[in-house]
Amino acid sequence: MAQEQRAVFIIFGGSGDLAHRKLYPALFKLYLKGYLRKHFAVIGTARRPWSHAYFRQTVMDAVESDLGDQAQIASFVEHFYYQSHDVNDSKHYVALRQLAQQLNEEYQAGNNQIFYMAIAPRFFGTVAQHLNSEQLLNEKGYNRLVIEKPFGKDLASAKELNDCINATFKEEQIYRIDHYLGKEMVQAIPVLRFTNPLLEAIWNKNYISNVQITLAETLGVGERAGYYESAGALRDMVQNHTLQILGLLAMDRPQAFTSAAVHEQKEKIFQCLPNYTPDQVATNFVRGQYDQDSRGRQLAYRQADNVADDSQTETFVAGKILLDDPRWQGVPFYVRTGKRLHQKVTRIDLVLKAQAENIFADYQKQPVDPEATVLTLIIEPQQELRISLNTTHPGSGLKNYLETLTFQHSEDALANSQEAYEKLLIDVLLGDQTNFTNWQEQAATWKFIDQIRQTWDQTAVDFPNYYSNSFGPQASNELLEQDGHAWIWNG
Ligand code: NAD
Repeated sequence: MAQEQRAVFIIFGGSGDLAHRKLYPALFKLYLKGYLRKHFAVIGTARRPWSHAYFRQTVMDAVESDLGDQAQIASFVEHFYYQSHDVNDSKHYVALRQLAQQLNEEYQAGNNQIFYMAIAPRFFGTVAQHLNSEQLLNEKGYNRLVIEKPFGKDLASAKELNDCINATFKEEQIYRIDHYLGKEMVQAIPVLRFTNPLLEAIWNKNYISNVQITLAETLGVGERAGYYESAGALRDMVQNHTLQILGLLAMDRPQAFTSAAVHEQKEKIFQCLPNYTPDQVATNFVRGQYDQDSRGRQLAYRQADNVADDSQTETFVAGKILLDDPRWQGVPFYVRTGKRLHQKVTRIDLVLKAQAENIFADYQKQPVDPEATVLTLIIEPQQELRISLNTTHPGSGLKNYLETLTFQHSEDALANSQEAYEKLLIDVLLGDQTNFTNWQEQAATWKFIDQIRQTWDQTAVDFPNYYSNSFGPQASNELLEQDGHAWIWNG
C-alpha cells in the first residue's frame, strides 16, 4: 500500500466533463491504492445549486464500479462536498475558505490544499486572483495549483495569465497539466534513452536521419467546435503535447532525474526551436482541414455544429523543425497531428541513417531501403517498442533482410498500467513537478508557435484539403519527400 497523503482538494469545475471522466476515477484509484485514505476531502465547485448528496451521486456514477466494491465507493464519496460557486463572486470564495478550513480540521488534512482548475481557461486568472484576495491559501501547509490546458492562446496571453497566477502562486506551487506527460510510454522515453548504451550512443545527428512524431486522432471535432474554432490543431496539439514529446526526445542527458534537472534540459532544447520567417513557415509547415470521407459518409469539419461554412481553422498540422543544437544539427524533426485520420495512434519513429557504403550489396537480390532501420515507440493505443534490423536468413548466406523486433507488455502487466491523470495526481500529492510544464517551456513553445500562427493568419487557404479517414493532405507527404524522406506511419 502506498503511503497516505493528506490534502483538501478544491476542484473548480466540479460538475464538468473533465472532473467526471478523468479526475474522480483517478482519485478513486488513489484511494484504492492507499495514497488517499482517511485524511482527505474533495470540494467540488460549480455554478449549479447541487446538494452534497447529489454531488456524491454524480461522483459515484463517474467511478467505475468494477474497480472497487460498492462499500469502497460509498466510503470514498463520503469525502466529497459540494459548494455552489460563481467564479466572479467574492462572497463565494469566503464560503469556500470556511468549508475548506472546516474539512481540513474534520479530516486532519495537514493544512495542505490542492486547487484544481477544471474550468474554462478564461476563468483561470479570475480564480487565481480571488484565491489571493479572499485569502484561501493556508500558510501552515502546502498550497498547490493544478491548471489545465490551454495555457494561453499565444505568448502574450500566456504571459498575462502567468503573471496573474504568479501574483498568488510561486512557480514551485504551479502544476501545469499536459496529460501526455502522464502517459506511461512518454515517461519511458528518458529511461530508454539514458539507461541503454545501445540507444544513447546513436541518439544524435551521426546516426539519426530524421525523427517523426505523430499524434493522430480518428475523431472529428465533436462537441468541442466552440473552443476548437478559435484554437485549431496548432495551438491545441502542437504547442503542448507534440513539442513536449519533442523536448523529451531531443534534450541532453539531465544530471539527475529530478524536476529541476529535467526542466533545465528541456528549456535548453526549446531555446533551440527555430526562428522561421514567413517564407520558411510556408516551406516547413503544412495545414489541413478534413473533408467528408471519400464515400461521403462522414461530415466535413465545416459541416459540424458551430463551425463556420468558410472556416479557416486547421484540423491537421505537419511541420519540419530544425533545432539549432549541436546534437541535432541538420536532423529534421517532423511533427504531425490531425483529426479524422486513418487510425488513432501516437507514435515516434526514429529513422536511422544508411551506412555510407553497403559492402553486402552484391549478395542482395533487391536493393535495401537506405532508411529502413527504424526505432519506433508506440505510445497509444498500445504500448510498444519496435526496432528493425538487417539480418540474414538461415541457409541464405549473406543475403540480408529486414526483421522487426517488437516488444509489447503482457496483458497482465498492462492491467497494472496507470492512466495519465492518476500518475499526475500522485505527482501533485508528492510535490514532484517533473511531468508538468514550467513557465520557461511555455514561453519558448508559444514564441515558436506564434510565428506560424501569425503567418497563417495572413493568408487564406483552400480548405478542406484532406478526406476523413486518410493520412492528411498530400502536402504533408511532400514535406518529407522534398528532403528525400517519407513518413514511416503511412498505412
Ligand atoms: P465543462 O464545460 O464540462 O465544465 C466546466 C465547469 O466549469 C462546469 O463544472 C461548470 O459548472 C463550471 N463553470 C462554468 N462557468 C462557471 C462560473 N461562472 N463559475 C463557476 N463555475 C463555472 O469543461 P471541461 O471539458 O470539464 O473542461 C474543463 C477544463 O479542462 C478546460 O480548461 C479544458 O480546456 C480542460 N480540458 C478538458 C479536457 C476534457 O477531456 N474535458 C481535456 C483537456 C483539457
